[in-house]
Amino acid sequence: MARTNDVATPTVTTSTATQRAATRGRTIGRFTKRVDASYASGHTKHLYDALMAAQAAVLAQLRTGICGLNSYLRRINITDTQDCECGLPDTVPHFLSSCSRWIEERRTMREAHGEWWSNLPHAVGGRPAGASEEGWRPIRTVVLATVAFAKATGHLDPGGV
Ligand SMILES: [Zn+2]
Repeated sequence: MARTNDVATPTVTTSTATQRAATRGRTIGRFTKRVDASYASGHTKHLYDALMAAQAAVLAQLRTGICGLNSYLRRINITDTQDCECGLPDTVPHFLSSCSRWIEERRTMREAHGEWWSNLPHAVGGRPAGASEEGWRPIRTVVLATVAFAKATGHLDPGGV
């Protein structure tokens, strides 16, 4: 039997790919930090633990920006445009707060978000920048309303509308 370890292992130079991945990681990290000023604290685990798996998956997509929105799909060369069908960039804040395509689906979420409506960190269970960490906790009903909205639209699904 031939010795398989005689086969030369090709040397892969991944400096460009590694740099791209590192850049992408930094960009994604920046977005996540913007979404939650307390990103690394224990509340994130409690937040995910309080949700069912499908809800947690949707929440993770919204908190990281790694999802079926064109802003992300363009970054990984899946689509040619970062724009939504409405013509504006298809980002998480646009999707949750302002896209004209989801006005009806947004009503219940908007009520649940109350006076913090259109605050991205609040919507996804993050601590808004500038809010005191003392006594701050994500509001479960707010996060659930955000997740329910995202699921109702089907917009985050692969090949979603
Ligand atoms: Zn739109």
